[in-house]
Amino acid sequence: SRSGRRSLGRPSTTSSGACPGIAGRSYRDICPILKDPGALTAVIDLFEEHVRQTHPQVELIVGLDARGFLFGPLLAQRLGVGFVLVRKKGKLPGPTVSVAYKLEYGEAEVEVQEDAVAPGEKVLLIDDLLATGGTLCAACELMKKQNAEVMGCMVIIELKELNGVEKLKPNTLFSLVQY
Ligand code: 5GP
Repeated sequence: SRSGRRSLGRPSTTSSGACPGIAGRSYRDICPILKDPGALTAVIDLFEEHVRQTHPQVELIVGLDARGFLFGPLLAQRLGVGFVLVRKKGKLPGPTVSVAYKLEYGEAEVEVQEDAVAPGEKVLLIDDLLATGGTLCAACELMKKQNAEVMGCMVIIELKELNGVEKLKPNTLFSLVQY
């Protein structure tokens, strides 16, 4: 693909949310969650309950490009806090700060608007899935570069065998489903 990542295959037609075709592992598709209003509500309920119990002081939800944008704003609305976008390089207007990270083939960069997060602000990061942990790890670094206080990371799906949780340390991970 243009970004140097592998193609992630076609959307799933199975109820398990897994579809074949990604170099050695199943692609975990979250589209069925979005198509089912009850499932989407349940996902946001679970995230909300977790945040209210463990991080009630959170001030901002930070979502990762692109599927973090689907769940993050819904959660932020529930919590009555703001939402900030961490995007792939070159997508955000105005002055930005960025952090580069390694992919399987090549490099990528994540960016945030320079004034999006205030120093000391308490943030929680959200994405759909943790694989190697490279993306969330870079986003945590980006938040720290802006002197934000990273309270933790949240995903719907954690791929345990890739051990991304180790890469994320000392940042913590909350996941709804593990494979
Ligand atoms: P990592 O940086 O942890 O290796 O990869 C996680 C990032 O790649 C996330 O932004 C996620 O959206 C995307 N990703 C990688 N594999 C999958 C997958 O199987 N399913 C979905 N939904 N996203 C994936």
